[in-house]
Amino acid sequence: MTYDSDNIFAKILRGEIPSTRVYEDDDTLAFMDIMSRADGHLLVIPKTPCRNMLDASPEQMTAVMCTVQKLSHAVMKAFGAEGVTLQQFNEAVGGQEVFHLHVHVLPRHEGVSLRPPGKMEERDIIEANAEKIRAALSA
Ligand code: AMP
Repeated sequence: MTYDSDNIFAKILRGEIPSTRVYEDDDTLAFMDIMSRADGHLLVIPKTPCRNMLDASPEQMTAVMCTVQKLSHAVMKAFGAEGVTLQQFNEAVGGQEVFHLHVHVLPRHEGVSLRPPGKMEERDIIEANAEKIRAALSA
């Protein structure tokens, strides 16, 4: 399995298609999932290419998971969440649809199920949720 540099997250990294960014550092980028399954659902990706966890380097995994932890704290604060679910899929049979390593960060509340996958979120709701995360990060 080889890395396809035309995948949608590679295009986001190159700025070829829009995204709602909430955080970045030298090695990682965090942006909102367009089909959010919970308010504040975001994705963390490495800036360097790899398909998924199976071909990622220890350095890519470390950078991604450090940002995942940082953003998990931010969504807990931003949404008054009581927990966080992480999802990470590897290859098509593992549920992966976009072949650039990514970790889903999903803030959770007692008694609130994740919404079904595949439904586009309204753009202004995504932006409002992103702003809450940015504010939590900068507080
Ligand atoms: P998976 O590979 O199964 O983790 O699914 C890919 C995820 O990427 C899904 O949750 C999609 O909603 C999300 N997604 C796909 N295209 C975009 C995009 N342009 N911007 C943000 N999220 C996206």
